[in-house]
Amino acid sequence: MFISFEGIDGSGKSTQARMLADALREAGHDVVLTREPGGSPGAEEIRRLVLEGDPDRWSAETEILLFTAARRDHLERVIEPALASGKVVICDRFADSTRMYQGLSRGDLRAVVDQLHSLMIKREPDLTILIDIDPATGLSRAKGRQGTEERFEDFGLGLQEKMRAGFLALSKEFAPRFRVIDGARDPQRVAQDVLETVQAELPG
Ligand code: C5P
Repeated sequence: MFISFEGIDGSGKSTQARMLADALREAGHDVVLTREPGGSPGAEEIRRLVLEGDPDRWSAETEILLFTAARRDHLERVIEPALASGKVVICDRFADSTRMYQGLSRGDLRAVVDQLHSLMIKREPDLTILIDIDPATGLSRAKGRQGTEERFEDFGLGLQEKMRAGFLALSKEFAPRFRVIDGARDPQRVAQDVLETVQAELPG
């Protein structure tokens, strides 16, 4: 089973992905916890190329190509082999993040993202957990972190608000695979909701 976590910066999705992986391992599942951008050696190199250094280094279109190349490598080398051997794959961000960030943050490029996705990626998660949080809370959480390369923080609250609205719209567009979970609560409480949601969908 392929599960992705999505949400704006500071939503707590990475913590929740980790907590879910721990809980499922404890329940006896074979779990691969991975992340995007990155998740394979080649894709992690692309992550550095895109997220570190001058934010204007790449045009919006080139950035979509780079993110798609990274995802293709991650899919071929990590995700598909794990799924083929019956593992549960938990991915911190997947194609929905590209639909949002590359598709919306620098103009309306959603159609380009979708075309490349249908050409080179094709795969959607079986289940997507959207950790929903108020943008101001997310931003202050993200800003409190040390040593991250959150370049999109610089765009501030306006972008966070746009991304949150975009993710909620996406959850309706792809309704059957999305579950929206309130991330403003205590992390343990959120984790319990996430686990119950996933267990209801896990085969066997
Ligand atoms: O999820 P994570 O914190 O690792 O994301 C790192 C940064 O990359 C964040 O600032 C996020 O907004 C940005 N990002 C992006 N495009 C994506 C995925 C993440 O710009 N497709």
